[in-house]
Amino acid sequence: MYRSHTCGELREEHIDNIVTLSGWVHKTRDKGFVVWIDLRDRFGITQLIFDEERTSKELLEQARSLGREFVIQIKGTVLERASKNANIPTGNIEVLVQELTILNESKTPPFTIEDDTDGGEDIRMKYRYLDIRRNTVKNNLIFRSKVSMEVRKYLSDGGFIEVETPYLIKSTPEGARDFVVPSRMNEGQFYALPQSPQTFKQLLMVGGMDKYFQIVKCFRDEDLRADRQPEFTQIDCEMAFVEQEDILNAFEGLTKHLLKEIKGIDITSFPRVTYDDAMAKYGNDKPDIRFGMEFGELNAVAQHKEFNVFNTAELVVGIAIPGAATYTRKEIDKLIDWIRRPQVGAKGMVYVKCNEDGSFKSSVDKFYDQEDLANWAKVTGAKAGDLICVLSGDTNATRAQLSALRMEMAERLGLRKPEEFAPLWVIDFPLLELDEETGNYHAMHHPFTSPKPGQLELLDTNPGAVKANAYDLVLNGNEIGGGSIRIHDKETQATMFKHLGFTPEEAKAQFGFLMDAFQYGAPPHGGIAFGLDRLVSILGGQETIRDFIAFPKNNSGRDVMIDAPAPIDDEQLKELRLQLNLES
Ligand code: ASP
Repeated sequence: MYRSHTCGELREEHIDNIVTLSGWVHKTRDKGFVVWIDLRDRFGITQLIFDEERTSKELLEQARSLGREFVIQIKGTVLERASKNANIPTGNIEVLVQELTILNESKTPPFTIEDDTDGGEDIRMKYRYLDIRRNTVKNNLIFRSKVSMEVRKYLSDGGFIEVETPYLIKSTPEGARDFVVPSRMNEGQFYALPQSPQTFKQLLMVGGMDKYFQIVKCFRDEDLRADRQPEFTQIDCEMAFVEQEDILNAFEGLTKHLLKEIKGIDITSFPRVTYDDAMAKYGNDKPDIRFGMEFGELNAVAQHKEFNVFNTAELVVGIAIPGAATYTRKEIDKLIDWIRRPQVGAKGMVYVKCNEDGSFKSSVDKFYDQEDLANWAKVTGAKAGDLICVLSGDTNATRAQLSALRMEMAERLGLRKPEEFAPLWVIDFPLLELDEETGNYHAMHHPFTSPKPGQLELLDTNPGAVKANAYDLVLNGNEIGGGSIRIHDKETQATMFKHLGFTPEEAKAQFGFLMDAFQYGAPPHGGIAFGLDRLVSILGGQETIRDFIAFPKNNSGRDVMIDAPAPIDDEQLKELRLQLNLES
C-alpha cells in the first residue's frame, strides 16, 4: 500500500495515528537540528518533520539528500504542530517520519512548482506535465471536470443519451477547413476529422434516439486567431420533436443549473434579443449586457443640419459613457486615436460632454444648439456627467466600431466584472450571409438550418432577408453556444443546397446519405452545441481557454511538448502512397 491517507487529509483528529503518505518533495527547510519537508500530492501538502532528537542519523541524512520533486513514500506518526499554519487545511499537524523510501528521483525542474512560478509560458508549455503539478493549472482541470460532470448530470437527468460519433468521417462544410487523414487501405482517399458531429446527430434523430448529447472533440483547420485551438471540445446536443422554444427552455435550464451548481448564482433574467435588435442596440451579435451603454441612433435628431459628415452618413449612432464628461481634451484625443487604429477603423468621433449643470459642450457646437444636444442625450440615455461619443458612416462598419468602443470603455471602467454573469439568447439570425469577396451567399450557421416558417419563398427574391430558426447563447460578450431547428425533408434540404451554390450532383455526392435518410421518416428536430473550453474559462473567471485545457496547442497550432505536427518518415509516406511536394 503506497498510502493510508493523501497529503491533504490529515487533521488534529489523526494525532498519534501511524500513517503512510506518498507524494512529491515540494520544499525542504533545513535548520541543522531539524529538517522539514513539505510533501505534496494533488490533494494538498503535509509537513514532514525529521529531528536530531527523535530521528535516526541515517534517516536525517536521507531527508537532507532529497531533491525537489523527488517522489517519496514515508511512514510516520501524526503530531500536533508547535507553530500552526492557518493557511492550509493540514496546518495543525505534522508527521514525524520513521521510514522513508525514495520511489523515484527527479531532475531539478526547469521552473518552480509554485502558484507564482518563475517559469515563462514557453517553458511551462514544453514541460506541461510539471505545470499541471501547479495549483493554478491543477485547479483549472479539476474545475473543468466538475463542469463536465454537472453537464452530464443535468442532461442525463433530462433524458439525454450520450452517444459517441466517429472521428474519421467525410468532409462536412461548416465554414472552416477540414483536417484530413489519408486512408492506407483506400488508396488516394482521405477521411476528414469532424468539425462537429452535425450530420451524425441528425442521423441519430432519424434513428429515433430522441435526445442525444456528447462531450466531444471537434477539429477545425482555421488560421489561428488568438485563443482558438485547432481541436476543441463541444457539448453537442440534439432533440427530436422540438420547436425552438423547447430547445431554448432546455438549455436555459442547463445554463442556470451550471451557474447555480458551479458559481452558486441564481439567474433570474434570461432575455431573448433578436439578431436585428442586438446589432442595433449593441452593434454586435454577442452583446455583453452586464452593463448598459446601449446605442442611440441619432439620424432623426442629427441629420438635416449643416453638418455634412452626418448628413451623408447611412447611420449616425452614439453611446453615453458614464461619468466621462470630465475627460480632458487630451484624454478625448487619445480616445479618438484609439478608435482610429486600423483594428477599429473609425475615421473620427464627435463628442458631447453632458455637464453637471445640465448644459452641453460638444465638438460640433457650430452646428448644433443646446436643444439638439439635449435630444442626443435623450436618445443615448446620457445623464449629467456622461460623455456622448458619436460615430457615423456605413451602418455595419459604424456599428462594429462603436461596439469596439463600448467594450473598450466598459473594460476601462471595470464594468466587465468576471464574477457577474448575464446570459441571453440571440435569436432570428439571418439564414444566409453574403460573402463580400465572392458575391456568393453561404449559410450563416450551417446548411442544415431551417428558415423561419413561410420564408422559404423569399430565398429566390431576397435571400439576405431570410431569417433562420437559429439561436446563439451568449454569456458576458461571448458566444458560448449556437444551434438551430433543422431542415428535415429532402426537398427543402435540396432547395437549400441549390441556393448555397451546390449542383444537384454535388449535393448528392456530399450529402446524399443525409437526404436519403430524410426519406425514411425523419422527425422534426433541432439542437445546439456549446463550446466547453470557452464556457469553462468564463465560469472560471479567466480569459484564456488554454488555461483550462490539459495539453493545449500554442498560437501556431503546435504542441511544443510532444513536438507536433512533425514530418513522417518515407516508409509511412510510401505506405500511404503520398508524395510530398514542398516546393510548389
Ligand atoms: N454543429 C453546430 C456547431 O458546431 C451546432 C449545432 O447546430 O448544433 O456550431
